[in-house]
Amino acid sequence: MTKRDTATGYEVVIGLEIHAQMSTATKMFCGCTTLFGGQPNTHTCPVCIGMPGVLPVMNKRALEFTIRAGLAINSEISRYSRFARKNYFYPDLPKGYQISQYELPICVGGCVVITTEDGEKTIGITRIHMEEDAGKNIHEGSVSHSLVDLNRAGVPLMEIVTEPDIGSPKEAAAFMRKLRGILRYLEVCDGNMEEGSLRCDANVSLRPHGTEALGTKTEIKNINSFRFVEKALEYEIKRQEKVLKAGGTITQETRLWDVATGVTQSMRSKEEAHDYRYFPEPDLVPIAVSDEFIDCVRATMPELPDTLKGRFIEVYNLPQYDADILTSDKQVALFFEEAVRGGANPKAASNWIMGELMRLLNEKAAAFESLQLRPADLAGLIKLIDDGTISVKIAKVVFEDMFNTGKSAQEVVKDRGLVQISDKGHLEQTIADIIAGNPAETERYRAGEVKLMGFFVGEVMKATKGKANPKLVNEILRRKLT
Ligand SMILES: [Zn+2]
Repeated sequence: MTKRDTATGYEVVIGLEIHAQMSTATKMFCGCTTLFGGQPNTHTCPVCIGMPGVLPVMNKRALEFTIRAGLAINSEISRYSRFARKNYFYPDLPKGYQISQYELPICVGGCVVITTEDGEKTIGITRIHMEEDAGKNIHEGSVSHSLVDLNRAGVPLMEIVTEPDIGSPKEAAAFMRKLRGILRYLEVCDGNMEEGSLRCDANVSLRPHGTEALGTKTEIKNINSFRFVEKALEYEIKRQEKVLKAGGTITQETRLWDVATGVTQSMRSKEEAHDYRYFPEPDLVPIAVSDEFIDCVRATMPELPDTLKGRFIEVYNLPQYDADILTSDKQVALFFEEAVRGGANPKAASNWIMGELMRLLNEKAAAFESLQLRPADLAGLIKLIDDGTISVKIAKVVFEDMFNTGKSAQEVVKDRGLVQISDKGHLEQTIADIIAGNPAETERYRAGEVKLMGFFVGEVMKATKGKANPKLVNEILRRKLT
């Protein structure tokens, strides 16, 4: 039985549609700002609120961003593509249609490699197309009416559609993480899921193990976190399994994931493409992309996570696990490399970043971008440990101070008088006093209770406020006790 099978022998088939908000300064077809928030309906103009008689103009930067994403995931870039009208009525869509792409998307095909429990797996990409976002309905605050905020209307999106190659909720989350990382490396989407910059619709169906035909799928809409994508899919798979096992049939429908109750609920029967009456957008000319333009975009491409990961393993001798974590975010990878360039031992730098740094960032719910600590200062801290100026234990205290204040390791150590005591004479005296002050323990140690060594080390550290050189302490203790 493979990983994608449920316990009762159904095979899970998942495909994702990811909406990534592009990090352009202005909207897809007008000059309004794409900034998040703002007073409702202030980031708007006649174009994005759909006044009659206005004409959209394509944002060239959005085209460039989509091509950049396409190149990164090995898509074929269409030399000729065009926009299409997707017709539907909804209060947050005043035009009565969304400008999207349909039969001629800008990017076709491609793949993304994810890491699963069984190793690497390639997830096929069907297409990437450009479209505009809709506005937002606000239902809170009144029982008698709803409000519409069109600040988000017209914000450029790229929709990335996968093949039904994903076999489990875990793989779906891994795919989203990987894709988010790539888009952030490319600086085409900030990946901020709380602000809705990256959202996902998940299509899921089950089929009896060993059969070819796809089962009826349901679509879970608008999932905005890695955790929710996993949870929503897990719930939905169990629900479908129960229906199928009882001899029922799955209804093709769109479902909503309810964060509060942890269940998916039917929202509406799923639309087919023909429900939208797609037709070529008459207000926009088709997009012709030249080889020169693609080459220009290619020339601006940064190093991508997978390339970087390979380099980290090869050049810095890092374990795959470390390389995976460090390259999952561009900022983290850059920080690591700069620390190493500043003289840090790569594995030590990696340990500090994956350990203390991540812990403190999590604890303070801080973004990596807001970090005061500089890579060169991490290198400085590691140097102080290596040359015996401070112990690893003290280094953790120093690190937290550096994290909070942005001071260098040397500054913190000097300010707080944390220099490790490696003065042999001083330590000899301290240890002699401790042995003299604990005759019972000394007796027991000498009678063979060697685990009391820990007690003595603890006493020395207490007396020196943790600043004693541990290697020296052990050496002197062992000598004096035996
Ligand atoms: Zn506008």
